[in-house]
Amino acid sequence: RIDAVDGAEGGGLGAFLHVAAEQALATAAEIDAEIAAGTVRGPLAGVPVAIKDNMATRDMPTTCASRILEGWRPPYDATAVRRLREAGLVPLGKTNLDEFAMGGSNENSAYGIVRNPWDPSRVPGGSSGGSAAATAAGETPLAIGSDTGGSIRQPGAFTGTVGCKPTYGTVSRYGLVAFSSSLDQIGPFGRTVLDAAMLHEVIGGHDPCDQTSIDAPLPPVVEAALAGARGDLTGVRVGVVTELSGEGYQTGVLSAFTDAVRVLTDLGAEVVEVSCPSFTSAMPAYYIIAPSEASSNLARFDAMRYGLRVGDDGSHSTDEVMSLTREAGFGPEVKRRIMIGTHALSAGSYDALYGKALKARTLVVRDFAAAFEQCDVLVSPTVPTTAFPIGDRVDDPVAMYLADLCTIPANLAGTAGLSVPCGRAPEDGMPVGLQVMTPALADDRAYRVAAAYE
Ligand code: GLN
Repeated sequence: RIDAVDGAEGGGLGAFLHVAAEQALATAAEIDAEIAAGTVRGPLAGVPVAIKDNMATRDMPTTCASRILEGWRPPYDATAVRRLREAGLVPLGKTNLDEFAMGGSNENSAYGIVRNPWDPSRVPGGSSGGSAAATAAGETPLAIGSDTGGSIRQPGAFTGTVGCKPTYGTVSRYGLVAFSSSLDQIGPFGRTVLDAAMLHEVIGGHDPCDQTSIDAPLPPVVEAALAGARGDLTGVRVGVVTELSGEGYQTGVLSAFTDAVRVLTDLGAEVVEVSCPSFTSAMPAYYIIAPSEASSNLARFDAMRYGLRVGDDGSHSTDEVMSLTREAGFGPEVKRRIMIGTHALSAGSYDALYGKALKARTLVVRDFAAAFEQCDVLVSPTVPTTAFPIGDRVDDPVAMYLADLCTIPANLAGTAGLSVPCGRAPEDGMPVGLQVMTPALADDRAYRVAAAYE
């Protein structure tokens, strides 16, 4: 299937940066033999999975879709990857993304765009566009991605797949190349809610290698998906976030969302409207906090430790080699983020920019807390629009950033959010996503509601 649809040169989807066909067949044969001998590691043993290329894999390159890491082979596996292998899943390869996960359309990859399987003239969303497109196109039944501001849920919505950003600290970030460490979280993609839940349980859980990992049981997401599938939401209080719909939202997105809310009511949920006024500050706060952390995290790409090294010919100083390498190795969006972040953290701007963004972040946390006193889950469209045409927003970073309007609050608060397909927009026929948000460590509620809806 990958051979048939993916080849970027032949106008294919371009979802994979690396396909590990032989390894995958060998692993599959091993798992088959185990199963024949009566040992089954778990319910997903033998099931293929694709891995976003910002997670360390010891037997495959890890590039973050950046020239600066071209050909880099990590000496170890990310914890999430290790857990996939231990559960007997079969890694198929590494998927394309926006460089260092910075973007919302996959157009920032140094190795080419990814096309949306439903309409190849449109983006698949991002930054986990490769994982989303590969899942939607049947190149893999399951994939993992990372979500810093929406990078699982937004491409999930654009490609008609299920994607979840788990509660911060419930899936280990060990081996995930850091973009914005206080926001980054690995999560699952699947074609159904139950598929995503099963993958979620494989990758999640406490990990001593990640100091922000929560030492608590993972919310019972599979059980919740199974319970939800019975289709009864009696007693569940669903809050519709006032600030996350209306003006600026595509008509077909709003109509699909309204229909979805009606379905939740029909399933027995009690629907209330909830206001979260600070959510309007979430996007601007995120675009200070995320670049600030990125500017610090990306300092490690210094031409000495990993990947690319430019100008190391004896005629340049160490500082010059570092500058030449970073100049050649990072793409324009990554440079933009490093500059914004460096500026926001500088002595003259820290209070006015970074400090203020942190205050806005606290207000978002408080809005969630107040909202969850009135309801069990919050819902919104996952994205204000459907997948847009390739090239449409490349010259307008702020228009691009708007695609994360609805997903960013959950990252700032560390809470969970899941996107489940909710029909198509009549005007362009593209998939629409329903976002279900929950309090921290209550991810199971999102799976229950989404499975009931689905
Ligand atoms: N699109 C957002 C950004 O560009 C979110 C990216 C992400 O979640 N990794 O930062």
